[in-house]
Amino acid sequence: MWIYEKKLEYPVRVNTTNPTLAAMIIEQFGGADGELSAGVRYLTQRWTMPTGKAKALLTDIGTEELAHWEMIGTIVYKLTKDATIEQIKGTPFEAHYANHGKSPYPHNAAGAPWTITYLNSKGDPVADLTEDMAAEQKARATYEHLIRISDDPGVIDTLRFLREREVVHFQRFGEALCIVQEHMCRKKFY
Ligand code: MN
Ligand code: MN
Repeated sequence: MWIYEKKLEYPVRVNTTNPTLAAMIIEQFGGADGELSAGVRYLTQRWTMPTGKAKALLTDIGTEELAHWEMIGTIVYKLTKDATIEQIKGTPFEAHYANHGKSPYPHNAAGAPWTITYLNSKGDPVADLTEDMAAEQKARATYEHLIRISDDPGVIDTLRFLREREVVHFQRFGEALCIVQEHMCRKKFY
């Protein structure tokens, strides 16, 4: 079960109204390597992990990714909530607005809707943990692209925090892969 805490994992300070930037940051809300994909990926893969430690790690990180998804939705909303129609027209956010108004919706920066095909659950711990390590590197790279195109100091600060967490997750999945491989080898010796 989950317990919801009515606060964000890290404060989201947004200093400007910027629909164009919101339309780019939505990549991490509903894109292939975004936070929704990460959360669903880890929370789905955890059952077939061979050790309690690996199951717990996927549960912990999957839960944290949903908290990141909440933070990304908050950034997108804060960047657009005060935007006038004049400020929205002619920006990439206009296409989003036509369907969803100012509600964040899981699609990528190019408008393609989120899909479960962005992730897999292979039932094989080595394959899954290897996918997870790659997913963390891709999320880190996306954050670096987004930081480069951001000009809002509050948004940059939050994106830097989120980027750093993906680096930590990559390291922890690497440790889990070692533990799982040791466990699988041990079983072969009597
Ligand atoms: Mn994340
Ligand atoms: Mn992560």
